[in-house]
Amino acid sequence: MQNVPVVIVGGGLSGLYAAFLLEQKGIDYILIEARDRLGGRITVAKSSVGQNVSGQSVDHDKSNDGFDLGPSWFWPEYQPQLSSLIEALGLPRFAQFEEGDMMVERGANELPIRAQGYQSSPPSMRLVGGMTALTDALYARLDAKRIVTGQTVRRLTKAGQHIKIDSEYGSEHINAGQIITYQAQHVLLALPPRLAVSNIVFEPALPQDLAIEWQETDTWMAPHAKYVAVYDSPFWRDNGLSGAARSAIGPLTEIHDASLVEGEGAVFGFFGVPVKVRQSVSEMALKAHCRAQMVRLFGVQADKPKAEYIKDWSQDIFTATAADASGSGQHAVAPPSKPKTGEWQDCLTGCGSEWSEAFPGYVAGAIDAASKAVQSL
Ligand SMILES: Cc1cc2nc3c(=O)[nH]c(=O)nc-3n(C[C@H](O)[C@H](O)[C@H](O)COP(=O)(O)OP(=O)(O)OC[C@H]3O[C@@H](n4cnc5c(N)ncnc54)[C@H](O)[C@@H]3O)c2cc1C
Repeated sequence: MQNVPVVIVGGGLSGLYAAFLLEQKGIDYILIEARDRLGGRITVAKSSVGQNVSGQSVDHDKSNDGFDLGPSWFWPEYQPQLSSLIEALGLPRFAQFEEGDMMVERGANELPIRAQGYQSSPPSMRLVGGMTALTDALYARLDAKRIVTGQTVRRLTKAGQHIKIDSEYGSEHINAGQIITYQAQHVLLALPPRLAVSNIVFEPALPQDLAIEWQETDTWMAPHAKYVAVYDSPFWRDNGLSGAARSAIGPLTEIHDASLVEGEGAVFGFFGVPVKVRQSVSEMALKAHCRAQMVRLFGVQADKPKAEYIKDWSQDIFTATAADASGSGQHAVAPPSKPKTGEWQDCLTGCGSEWSEAFPGYVAGAIDAASKAVQSL
């Protein structure tokens, strides 16, 4: 059984940043991630890695390629800690493209209209290569031997001064179903609070009021799904359009330009269709509805995207639970990150973004919650 001072559960941004800070402090740890990839809600689709028209695999060297299927934006003016980290890691950023008019669909029997575009102030910023530039840069600075992927933490057992962490190999692994046990003095929960109490067994049980608070904390964006369409170029700009749109018809209600800093054009949209309706339609049919909407908004050139992606976070068991199907759409108020009484006092700390008081549910919240959790060890 591997015995370390700290085990981090979850390899999203908060877990990776906690690991980064622990290494700076010289504290040994193991990070356990359930998925086969790191980054959690931060993930991108890469059109340069895929298949060409003849079905052959292609992997062009295009370092700026990456279309965010999770978060796209951060706001340096409000989020200085995140901004400084991005700067320290040397990651180039650029402002969300918002020049030109936006399109608005008001009702099923009306043609879409042009309206004055909305310019965010201060501007929303994006990372070149997508938000995974941040998680990749952190991972590159970590000791890979301390990072375990494809193992889901199932049970935490307090045994005297130690915590036993039982984690199970995922179905993709040769040892699928096998349980590995680690031992630590402190566990950092780098995942959404609701996911932690829903999917991990705590022995003894967590204080009841805390478990309820964690269960009732909505996981930001967990009920949502994103559609991305990639084109050879951002052709809507030639027509004085920003690529942004609002729609009362759908299936996408809010649409934005998602083009690379140079090269391919792209738009992304959030579905307004509720989770149950999305589930009742095939992905192919959903994409066809999205394409039809793109044509209504941006013209016939939008009919043939070179790539399309849908990521439905409500269907992803490592982000959402059944309780997330009907989220409030608001950022939850951060619950307490530590048990104040009982066996789990002083050995368990929540460090996922939803535990950040300053930016609950945001990318900046993952950095804030992780740094506070590591400071408090
Ligand atoms: C569509 C979408 C758009 C968004 N847009 C923005 C935006 O523009 N700006 C912004 O600031 N924020 C945005 N967000 C929110 C942002 O993505 C999150 O705040 C941030 O990524 C949270 O990081 P985290 O590490 O706290 O949690 P997560 O990224 O959820 O990481 C948790 C990790 O724990 C792992 N895990 C789960 N259960 C277990 C288990 N039992 N054992 C081991 N590992 C486990 C998961 O696989 C995951 O890797 C968006 C989110 C989504 C989904």
